[in-house]
Amino acid sequence: MSITKSVFEELDMSYDDDNIYFQIISAVLDSAERLDLPHRLKLMMAQPKNEIIVHFPVRMDDGSFSLFKGYRVQHNNVLGPYKGGIRYHEGVTLDHVKALSALMTMKTALVRLPFGGAKGGVKVDPRGISPDELMRMTRRFISALGTNIGPDYDIPAPDVGTNAQIMAWMADTYVNISEPGKRLGGAGVVTGKPIEYGGSHGREKATGQGVVYVLEELLPDLGIDINRMSYSLIGFGNVGSWTGRLLHDHGATLKAVMDHTGAVFNAKGINALSLNAHVAEQGGVAGFSGAEPITESEFYAVEVDVFIPAALEQMVTEEKARLLRCRVLAEAANAPVTPSGERYLVEQGVSILPAILCSAGGVTVSYFEWKQNRQAELWDPEVVDQQLRKQMVAAARRVNETARLLDCALRTAAYCAALDYINKVYNLRGIFP
Ligand code: GLU
Repeated sequence: MSITKSVFEELDMSYDDDNIYFQIISAVLDSAERLDLPHRLKLMMAQPKNEIIVHFPVRMDDGSFSLFKGYRVQHNNVLGPYKGGIRYHEGVTLDHVKALSALMTMKTALVRLPFGGAKGGVKVDPRGISPDELMRMTRRFISALGTNIGPDYDIPAPDVGTNAQIMAWMADTYVNISEPGKRLGGAGVVTGKPIEYGGSHGREKATGQGVVYVLEELLPDLGIDINRMSYSLIGFGNVGSWTGRLLHDHGATLKAVMDHTGAVFNAKGINALSLNAHVAEQGGVAGFSGAEPITESEFYAVEVDVFIPAALEQMVTEEKARLLRCRVLAEAANAPVTPSGERYLVEQGVSILPAILCSAGGVTVSYFEWKQNRQAELWDPEVVDQQLRKQMVAAARRVNETARLLDCALRTAAYCAALDYINKVYNLRGIFP
């Protein structure tokens, strides 16, 4: 029996190979097994510490009430306060949020941030409700979470479907429901806020910037020149568009982009800046005049040096992986490749740069924002970039070095480097009482 199945049985949890939570924990526990880490650590990693579900009513514009379902899963806090985004999406489920919370624990540990891992979400299509309804829903969700979050305890941030404005509403609500004596640092309860209200320079582009710093560090060893490479992107939201805009400065050729509205292709290169302006106006890549429309299968089959999924989880299934013609796959989204998709790509010799490394730029600048809030400071943009580069390069080297020492794939190496650190801190802290 696999280690994950036996741990899940011991914890009386059901398992299913197709479930994303089971898939993520399997990869984490296989890495723990490889390092021969203690059984108690495997049990701690296999289930989140707290799983909070709230149902809350919201007054809609027409005077009616709708009931919403919100989640906050706090996976682990041995390294520091729980940390991770809040997602607004119709497909949010408890197992999804649990899986993403575990990835946050791995991500913050890999980058050596003083945070644990958490994730939240509300099951809603944010485009399907009005801005006023979105604000009331956000405020009601934060008041329903109450003291389950806090600047020293659990610090949410943006994720798919949420943005700086939503973070401002969250912070304002939290501050207003706090005791007067605790209001001063209250806005530090969330990161990814607008700069005018406690945000940090560089937070908006941070995840894309982190992807680019990781590529700069790792591609030379894989024989690819970032300034001359060709690549394609799934997703042109915050992460995809910033990755595209920053790689544009390098001169790399963006051959194809796909999002929820369609897929577009240009062999000579898509101008990411023009595409960004088009998406801001039209809501998606479809209809972009600087490229021609292609089908989903054609999109996956475009030959590129680097393929970058920057949208939702599990998009690259084995069926899609079989279409890919790339040398490197850089996971800018969380868990974008299914386990069978990954097995196929590894057999084909494709190098996969793992999500907990590639997508760690966002939470790293969140850490800088949290620090700035605590010191009532605003760092210059150059300082943020320089500090982010330092953390991302160190994490990329840590992953490479671990892969060399353990003679394993980069994903396993990233999990091992994170778990080894968490284990050390557990051993130092012991169990109390
Ligand atoms: N949602 C982002 C992530 O998945 C950022 C989390 C944060 O800044 O706390 O990494």
